[in-house]
Amino acid sequence: MKGNRWVRLPESTERMMKWEGKRVIVLGLARQGIALTRYFAKGGAEVVVSDLKPREALSEARQALSDLPVEYVFGGHPPALLERADLLCLSGGVPADLPLALQARELGIKVTNDAQLFLEICPATVIGITGSAGKSTVTTLVGRMALSQFEDTESSAWIGGNIGRPLLADLPDIGADDLVIMELSSFQLELMTISPPVAGVLNVTPNHLDRHLTMEAYTAAKSRILDFQSSEDVAILGREDPGAWALREKVRGRLISFGWSAPEEGDGTYIEDGIIMLRLGMNDVELSPVGEVELRGEHNLLNVLASCAIAGAVDISPQAMVAGIRGFQGIEHRLEFVRRIDGVDWYNDSIATSPERTIAAIRAFDEPLVLLAGGRDKDLPWGDFATLVRQRIDHLILFGEAAEKIAQVIKTSPGPNKIQSFEVCDGLEAAVHLAKRVAEAGDVVLLAPGGTSFDEFNDFAERGEAYRAWVEGL
Ligand code: ADP
Repeated sequence: MKGNRWVRLPESTERMMKWEGKRVIVLGLARQGIALTRYFAKGGAEVVVSDLKPREALSEARQALSDLPVEYVFGGHPPALLERADLLCLSGGVPADLPLALQARELGIKVTNDAQLFLEICPATVIGITGSAGKSTVTTLVGRMALSQFEDTESSAWIGGNIGRPLLADLPDIGADDLVIMELSSFQLELMTISPPVAGVLNVTPNHLDRHLTMEAYTAAKSRILDFQSSEDVAILGREDPGAWALREKVRGRLISFGWSAPEEGDGTYIEDGIIMLRLGMNDVELSPVGEVELRGEHNLLNVLASCAIAGAVDISPQAMVAGIRGFQGIEHRLEFVRRIDGVDWYNDSIATSPERTIAAIRAFDEPLVLLAGGRDKDLPWGDFATLVRQRIDHLILFGEAAEKIAQVIKTSPGPNKIQSFEVCDGLEAAVHLAKRVAEAGDVVLLAPGGTSFDEFNDFAERGEAYRAWVEGL
């Protein structure tokens, strides 16, 4: 790829300096909040950070910012924060309809977040990737393809966003000929008024209904990734997922799609005779045999198809796509193989924080399964999960806050039931020990909770690490 077809704001360095004399309020002192604070404080702004947690709980975050002049307000977000404020920035965990955010809008104070700011300023082409599931896998894989494309060139690929690396800090180093691959969550998109020039929506299925309340609101948040695109821009949509495919009506520019069979019209990726294919214009190019994909599960094959479609949108070569796919075994906590003990394979899918994701994880295996599910419920429907679990799981071990609720749904669900043993325990550690007792050689023990980790851990990564450590210690 030569040059940036979508440069919107070339004067990036000038724009980055514009914060002197401004008073910026940052809500939420986690990863994104820290990045925002650092960015504004370095840019000369007067920054106030506020978090609901008490001071003591955030000593690590304060430490990370100790070299900068920052004012803190802990234990809540008092309305007085808005006095003299020029800008209100929300971290990923902070709802866009928070009273303080609504109040700020009424007062004419701009409300923004790290992704919006980044898109406003970034001089390079940005690929935004969203969806209910598969975002991090696709972001990482497209990143690998881009890195391969740029090998021995002056350009770089930057991979970040919701995946864990807020890219704001990288802005000074990002050049116009670089490529940014950015994961975007629905929470980030919810308040955005700018879309990336290349935008992928993988799927839209029930997730985070605790925060978005309705499916319509959730879909609306996701579709914002397309709402502000122009006719010059590109959208990449999944054909197999009705939620994502319905968004094709919103596409203003070029549409590239991905799915199992060749697209009825337009460009896209598909599988033919066991080969991943890319159709761009009149050309159908063979990319890689399906057998060379090392990721488990059909959902991951769709993720590969999505990644190739997205890479095709920015002219990454077929060779670079294949190089990215080759050897890619996924990322930690996503169907991650932990170890084999006495012929039993233990897998960690701690990231499966909705029943839908657990369903995808179960479908990735043919072996007899011991499933560890539970955690904290997000008010999601468990019906389809229960039906599949009854058909497919040999030993079910439920743990955590939602265990009883899930147990009730499983018990009252209609249809065949082949579950041989069914236990409820308090925490994940007990669940691991129980699994060790019931699993037999040839089985797979799968941690794919379906609930979030917050009842027992700080986040899914901490849960996955704890699980790994307990499994290693067996
Ligand atoms: P995200 O970044 O959207 O959270 P990940 O790529 O981290 O998604 O994958 C998380 C989990 O979601 C996987 O381990 C798997 O259980 C499930 N998953 C991944 N991709 C898909 C997909 N395309 N369709 C359904 N479920 C998926």
